[in-house]
Amino acid sequence: MTARGSADTPVMQQYREIKARHPDTLLFFRMGDFYEMFEDDARLAARELGLTLTSRNNGGAAEVPLAGVPVKAATEYLRRLVANGHRVAICEQVEDPKLAKGVVRREVVETVTPGTVLSDDWLARNRNNYLVALEPRSATVGVAALDVTTGELVLEVVPPADLEAVLARYEAAELVVPAGTPGHEAWEFDPELAREDLTRTFGLASLDGLGIAADDRPALGAAGALLRYARELKPGGLPHLARPTVVRRGDVLPLDEMTRRNLELVEPLRAGAQGATLLEVLDRTLTPMGGRLLRRWLLAPLVEPGAINARLDAVEVLVGDGRGRERLREALDGVRDLERLAGRAALGRATPRELGALRDSILRLPDARSALSGLERRERAAALDAAADAFDLLTDLGDELTRALVDRPPAQLADADAIRPGYDDELDATKAARDGGKQFIASLQARERERTGIGSLKVGFNKVFGYYLEVTHAHRARIPADYERRQTLTGAERYVTPELKEYEAKVLGAEERIAAREAAVVDALRRRVADAIGRVQAGAALLAQLDVWAGLADLAERERWVRPEVTDGFTLRLEASRHPVVERTMAREGFIPNDVCLDEAGRVILLTGPNMAGKSTLLRQVGLCVLLAQIGAFVPCRRAAVGVVDRLFTRVGASDNLVRGQSTFMVEMSETSAILHGATARSLVLLDEIGRGTSTYDGVAIAWAVTERLHNTTGCKTVFATHYHELTQLTEELAHARNFNVAVREVGDEIVFLHRLEPGGADRSYGIHVGRLAGLPAPVVARAWEVLKLLEAGHHVARLRPPLPPDTGQFPLFGGAGRHPLLDELHRLDVNTLSPLDALKRLAEWKKRLEET
Ligand code: ADP
Ligand code: MG
Repeated sequence: MTARGSADTPVMQQYREIKARHPDTLLFFRMGDFYEMFEDDARLAARELGLTLTSRNNGGAAEVPLAGVPVKAATEYLRRLVANGHRVAICEQVEDPKLAKGVVRREVVETVTPGTVLSDDWLARNRNNYLVALEPRSATVGVAALDVTTGELVLEVVPPADLEAVLARYEAAELVVPAGTPGHEAWEFDPELAREDLTRTFGLASLDGLGIAADDRPALGAAGALLRYARELKPGGLPHLARPTVVRRGDVLPLDEMTRRNLELVEPLRAGAQGATLLEVLDRTLTPMGGRLLRRWLLAPLVEPGAINARLDAVEVLVGDGRGRERLREALDGVRDLERLAGRAALGRATPRELGALRDSILRLPDARSALSGLERRERAAALDAAADAFDLLTDLGDELTRALVDRPPAQLADADAIRPGYDDELDATKAARDGGKQFIASLQARERERTGIGSLKVGFNKVFGYYLEVTHAHRARIPADYERRQTLTGAERYVTPELKEYEAKVLGAEERIAAREAAVVDALRRRVADAIGRVQAGAALLAQLDVWAGLADLAERERWVRPEVTDGFTLRLEASRHPVVERTMAREGFIPNDVCLDEAGRVILLTGPNMAGKSTLLRQVGLCVLLAQIGAFVPCRRAAVGVVDRLFTRVGASDNLVRGQSTFMVEMSETSAILHGATARSLVLLDEIGRGTSTYDGVAIAWAVTERLHNTTGCKTVFATHYHELTQLTEELAHARNFNVAVREVGDEIVFLHRLEPGGADRSYGIHVGRLAGLPAPVVARAWEVLKLLEAGHHVARLRPPLPPDTGQFPLFGGAGRHPLLDELHRLDVNTLSPLDALKRLAEWKKRLEET
């Protein structure tokens, strides 16, 4: 590194200065039509983007490694780098190179990180992209979350135990933490600085008006650091920042990562599976705002019955008036991403086409409002009433955009006219001058033909030479003296005249002025949107709610879901309940509905039944119905009463979880332990085959102890599904526990799955039946029956006899003289620790050895 700086060329010096101010960041350094990267950045970009690594001459110093991307194609490269978790600073030339004295001035105009992406096309439309800051250095953790695309800011203070659940809810794209990497200084989290920042930003005397209280200090600190960071990355500022909302403990039901995954709320357990998530079934929204809101609601179910019922009222009114709902949905259908479009406009980034989309969306508002006002029995839902009153049609903004923009504005200003004639006098006048000039030039063709007598004389234009008069060589003799030759082609010569040059200057000057003026007018429109940003955001939020409610109502009616009775009580009663997602995979009426009741008297259900009976389905369906009720949705039941739960835990025994790639028993147990620490009497705990990840005895023992504890100490509603029918004895000791089983019917030695829940435990596990169904060879099934009978009679397997009638020339399986050595190996084998693959390998090897003997 020594002496290098001094020998650098001036451009490299400038590069190094800027680079030093942006550590841990890839620098896209604009040079003409390329963004160049140097040294380590170049090596990294070459590796990640497959670019060619070259080198750049650096005056007296050693050559520097270099990799570049064309500016025109930069977006895609940028997207890939950010998707891989890199931070990229975009450094532009901020003065005209032609006018620059010495090195062109350059500045970083924006830094793009995973949590601060602004390009709409990189982001999922139905999902927020949150940048989340944490202040963990106090008794309660401060959390602040910002979606830079919409300007939404949320503050929250959470107990450390809930932090994981809260982070899972935001699905954060990027975290800001004190003194981590990249480090944020401790002082940045100072709540006092944040208080000043927020009051200044929103022009307030104090934060009381925002509902921020003394207890919220840690969240305030987090917000301060968050905003500082966001502004650092976006030097243009955050003009669209919305007033923060405060989420309080107890507003929202914490859903930990495992529960979210096991219930497949927003992501399928098997990556890429289609139609497996609750969100997919639920989402009938028509706007991106509605889609995002529904996802947020689903990950943040409510707890307070009043708030839940307010939402249910709205859905019910919309279910009740199918016509009104259709009208509303028709109006919503044309609304684009009002929220993000307005955000991009306020940030000075919206293209003319995007402004057009904003205008078109605003023009739908009157239809939406009249549909809302016309809803039958609207007064039964206070939320709908309030929405109708608060409806701002944004008429002024809509009018302005309508007057200003052409019907279909171009994606880029240079592509076509964006501004409607008659809107801006200066623009019109300049265009008239240009058009006059053009007309004059066009008329020149006729006049010059007459003057010279050359009938084929043409006026043309190209970018290099501008306007010219073209004459074929045949007429060269008739060229007047004032024609000045510019270009010679194979068959013709091109000329200019002083008169042509004069008009050309007028036309070209006008073009430049037009482009500048148009840019200025469009920019003014963006500022116009920025001035109204709060109102547009409020309108977007309102449409989002209407969209979600109407979507939920639409679904409820089509699928015959019902309004749950949501109360503060303890009891959970689901009559004829279905699994909303599994039901979809079957023919109508194919899914067997079941009644489930968890009340004080029977708050623990031990659910037994053979594999494939439908235990897991039932267990999840209970969880999903409660969640649906608590987000304010109708539920797939004939009737439902839901006493709200404060937490919902779902755990699935290790081997059902192979997909996660870390299906260790350890994980299963630490998750179970988290439940025992976190659950309260108001919680709902769903345990599916917990204990399966170890040997049978251990498994039964652990399952037994866990259930006892939940029953005796926690006292919460619990469903425990297990194929260990030994556990059914538990209910003899536990007063509030009940046995249920998912019924099967035996027909001869076959079983039929009825998928029907019945009181009482399963008396046996039907494993051999299932084995037979799965295609075990008939002799093996027969022998299994024999072994089972002996086992049930209390014999130890090693001493079992008599064996299968020995086939001639074969060793008997158990005991007997001349026992085959493979049997000893089989005996020593611990099946519980064997992976399926090892088992297969072992089998193949044995088979080979058997064939050799
Ligand atoms: P278990 O957990 O008891 O092994 P699952 O819940 O995984 O069983 O269910 C096995 C299969 O049975 C499911 O994939 C589904 O196709 C079917 N099934 C489960 N419950 C029902 C039901 N109530 N009605 C119809 N089919 C069902
Ligand atoms: Mg199961």
